[in-house]
Amino acid sequence: MKRIVIVATGGTIASGRAQDQSVIADRKGAALLATLHDPLEGIAVEVDDFTALGSYALDLQTLHRLILRVASHLERSDCDGVVVTHGTDTMEESAFVSDLLIGSDKPVVFTGAQRHADMVDTDGPRNIADAVRVAASPQTVGLGTLVVFEGDIHAAATVTKTHASRVDTFRSPGYGKLGFIDQQTVFIGRRSARRCIDNHGLAEGIELVKPGLGSSPDYLEYCATKNVSGVVLEAFGRGNAPKGFAAAVAKLVGSSIPVVIASRCPEGRTDQIYGGDSGAVTLKAAGGIFAGELSAIKSRLLLSGLIAGKATQNEIANSFSMF
Ligand code: ASP
Repeated sequence: MKRIVIVATGGTIASGRAQDQSVIADRKGAALLATLHDPLEGIAVEVDDFTALGSYALDLQTLHRLILRVASHLERSDCDGVVVTHGTDTMEESAFVSDLLIGSDKPVVFTGAQRHADMVDTDGPRNIADAVRVAASPQTVGLGTLVVFEGDIHAAATVTKTHASRVDTFRSPGYGKLGFIDQQTVFIGRRSARRCIDNHGLAEGIELVKPGLGSSPDYLEYCATKNVSGVVLEAFGRGNAPKGFAAAVAKLVGSSIPVVIASRCPEGRTDQIYGGDSGAVTLKAAGGIFAGELSAIKSRLLLSGLIAGKATQNEIANSFSMF
């Protein structure tokens, strides 16, 4: 008998209509489990109600407490894996932090729903059953943290929410899913690379700056005056930014504020190809650290974990070079 713990955090999967007609997360894990269509044969499930919040309302400290809670279940000899029920809005962020900070080989599987629990065609019960079966499968041992949604199995490092409302919202651009679950059978087609850092917590105060064509560097300059902990710049293409950004990056780095340059493209790597003000060559000369393939929102979380561990500029650059 496999033993899986469901850690419930809220989200649409745990939501219903309130009196004012808004949708709010108010269901406990046991209520979600009671809605499953079929028995989970050979799997014993325990529920741990961590919180009941929309994932848009989570903060970094709560996320870190969630990671510690998941890790503590995984350390138990009577737990073979954990399923986290979570809102879809920031699921890719929480799953990425779980993948980064939890070194266990036991599976951690995030899932949720796009249609709330009071809808007749809610996708929650199917997703929970799929996620539990994936977490209990010997095939997912050592794969790190996964997102299971609408029958697909994705790696935390690559997955992203691509549609605001459709049930098949999760995709891994450039890579695709790791596998899928058909009826009750788990198929894994490829294994993802695992990249972990030491768990020192998550530092606050990392700003994410997204310029458009012709944006001014004023907000970056402002960050330098506010003494933020770090900045992620979601740049264009290979990691190029509008005029004036390299000078602002140099100012931040000169004040010991690390600046990570990610690309706004959903696929492909940053690289130093273009010069001039403020091509990636210039941003690099200004002290920017390049994120490779990692998205800007995930780069912010990696930087947060590294800054919490008091990583040096070189150590930060080495960690980003894993991506
Ligand atoms: N739309 C979201 C969800 O799917 C709301 C949230 O992220 O909590 O759960």
